[in-house]
Amino acid sequence: MGLEEYRRKREFGKTPEPAGGERSEGKSRFVVQRHQASHLHYDFRLEMEGVLKSWAVPKGMPLEPGVRRLAVQVEDHPLEYLDFAGTIPEGEYGAGTVEIWDQGGFTLEKHTPGQLEFTLHGERLSGGYVLIHTDGRNWLLLKRRGDQGRGGEA
Ligand code: MN
Repeated sequence: MGLEEYRRKREFGKTPEPAGGERSEGKSRFVVQRHQASHLHYDFRLEMEGVLKSWAVPKGMPLEPGVRRLAVQVEDHPLEYLDFAGTIPEGEYGAGTVEIWDQGGFTLEKHTPGQLEFTLHGERLSGGYVLIHTDGRNWLLLKRRGDQGRGGEA
């Protein structure tokens, strides 16, 4: 996807969000940001292919196996967004407050066009997760059974 859509939606003189640099390969990190925009949601981002593959999860990350959460894929974000927290001004895209809810590393176990399987190693989240593409930008996010996650308070 690249960062074109991300940059097109934002005016970097007005929003404190990062514009992002060139693509670079890195470790496999993830972040979950609590984004109090017009509707509260959680943004789940995985470092892949030099960008952050990103999903908006309206109800937050599943903490128990068997819970399915809708995850709507949004534009790729730059790696610098891993550390972003702040206030996006009124009138700008995504206006509202962004807080880091969890962050850490992950291990990618499966990557096909329709499915991602990975293990999160975060402060609040740990254990195996699956993202399954359903249609359009919609994915289902589930916690895998058999993983002893620590869970966390939303
Ligand atoms: Mn968001």
